[in-house]
Amino acid sequence: MLLDAASLTSLQSCPRRYLLERHWRAAKWQPKSLLYHCLRGAMEHLCRGGDAKAAADLARTRLLELAADPGMDTAPGVNPYALALDFCAMIDTIVRSEWRSLQPEPPQLVEAEAVALCERHQWRVSARQDSASATRALHRWVFWDSYSDAKLSAELHSWAVFGEVALAGVPMQLHIISVGRMVDGRMESPWAACVKHPKFPNVLRFGRRGTAKGKSFTNTFQRMRLSDMPQQSPDEWVDAMWRDGVAQQLRRSVQVQVPPPEACGDALRQVLAEADRMQAMAKMQYAEPPMSRAACDGGWTPCPFQVLCHRAEPVAAGLVGAEGFRRRENGER
Ligand code: SF4
Repeated sequence: MLLDAASLTSLQSCPRRYLLERHWRAAKWQPKSLLYHCLRGAMEHLCRGGDAKAAADLARTRLLELAADPGMDTAPGVNPYALALDFCAMIDTIVRSEWRSLQPEPPQLVEAEAVALCERHQWRVSARQDSASATRALHRWVFWDSYSDAKLSAELHSWAVFGEVALAGVPMQLHIISVGRMVDGRMESPWAACVKHPKFPNVLRFGRRGTAKGKSFTNTFQRMRLSDMPQQSPDEWVDAMWRDGVAQQLRRSVQVQVPPPEACGDALRQVLAEADRMQAMAKMQYAEPPMSRAACDGGWTPCPFQVLCHRAEPVAAGLVGAEGFRRRENGER
């Protein structure tokens, strides 16, 4: 059996969800999941020798395609087109800024080989591996609304970080980028919006230099969105973010070391036990295991399969395809 951090996390959060996610995913994208999916693709492109503009252009095109078909699952009243344009602006600025952060020696990322756990089970490494570094370190990008120590702790404890590092036996570089919040269907983030000085309209500002952190501009400054400024160069936007020190504050890089051998061995024992559980569930119908009600609303977003589980009548086989889900293509994660 080939398992990975996503399938193991899914199994442990809810066995039903694990069974469903083997074959199905929600037809439409959660808006921020789509942004993160495209940003991760751009980071990989950057680390395969691509330049920032080409990586951003590809990611923006991909985002607009997927936002059109299958579309984004936006809340009522949200204009998906305006939101997609904000996302495109953020791709333009985040990718350019990340390219600068990775200089002078960006990692050379390749797909890591699967790890043999025993004769029957293998671990698919989800993070990409730096083929140019002596340690063959893994690299993982995560995108959060804002940074917090609690989120970092959860990330470090996850199968996607601890599990990968312990099972692959190599360190990981964790890249954390704060992207801001969505408010009324638009992104409130320096990656997408800034203010302009009332007397110097060509000067973009993001943070006040030399003043108390968080002190805001007076209301004589005009709020601007990059998506409304077709003539604005994203490179100059990023220059201004770096001058104000904002881009640097929105990015963190954390080095995760390989745990001691005893901890790695114990992680392997746990993963093998869960791999056996997965194998035993291989022929189960998704409605056979009990619901994990604590997981239904407990993640970043509500579980997309609520429409199947939270209903008056028991679910019927084959219902999934009729309820806004689509079958995963071969190998799709
Ligand atoms: S709705 Fe709840 S019980 Fe059903 S798959 Fe999702 S998390 Fe599990």
